[in-house]
Amino acid sequence: MSARSTACIHKAYRLHLFKQINEPLNVSSPFSVNLLPKDCQQVALFLDVDGTLYEIENSPSLIKPCFRLQKKLHTIRNRLQGALGLISGRTLDDLDRLFDKNKISFAGNHGAQLRDALRIKEYQANTGNIKRIAHKIEELLNGKKNIEIENKGSSLTIHFRNSTIDRKEIDRIIMELTKRDRSLTLLKGKEVLEVKPLSHNKGTAISYFMRTKPFIKRRPIFIGDDETDEDGFETVNKKGGWSVRVGNHKRSKANFFLPNVKSVHEVMKQLLKSR
Ligand SMILES: [Mg+2]
Repeated sequence: MSARSTACIHKAYRLHLFKQINEPLNVSSPFSVNLLPKDCQQVALFLDVDGTLYEIENSPSLIKPCFRLQKKLHTIRNRLQGALGLISGRTLDDLDRLFDKNKISFAGNHGAQLRDALRIKEYQANTGNIKRIAHKIEELLNGKKNIEIENKGSSLTIHFRNSTIDRKEIDRIIMELTKRDRSLTLLKGKEVLEVKPLSHNKGTAISYFMRTKPFIKRRPIFIGDDETDEDGFETVNKKGGWSVRVGNHKRSKANFFLPNVKSVHEVMKQLLKSR
């Protein structure tokens, strides 16, 4: 066999391995608290908000604060000695609106905003590029019925939940606009498009918290429901944790699944009961 054909075989094999490692796996195992160690001090819990703690509504602003949920999160936070984080696409201000007075670590805007539970450290990613593209997208979609554009400073969300419009052409144009700026990336979520800084995602947010107290040296659990949570699943998998996708999805990097929001609340209940 010639050196050239051997090189080709090696190249094809490397490509095969690359695909195996990077392509999302089938989600197959249901998640249960029985999988976790008995000692709470060994685990850190990270939760997405919409579609995980709350059912998805037609508009994010329709979600209201829930005292029972706040109380449940407060108790879990205490049980985990503070190792609880909410990792959301919402802004920190909006997370404060929903989870007021809870001393919980927050990552807002898909990791572009970070704040520790004691509100001592707060980080905000550069927002200049988002402002520029937001203006162009607002011009493009001006007059398109029932499409909500939410400019969250460090990221931009285009909501299609109430729209019957054919998204293909809009998706293509926004993708082209985003591609022109190498510092930005586009995520397709449930009925939404997210334009966000390439440097920050839910995975980088979890990595940041895992380097700080009280998360450090624990094994992370991350529960989320959407494409925007896949970076978080990847990070958690690399750290030997438990990645859990909510809903019925054929392909995900998550190793476990929960069928719906109700089952997430059931897991939280069991977490409190058993530990
Ligand atoms: Mg979600």
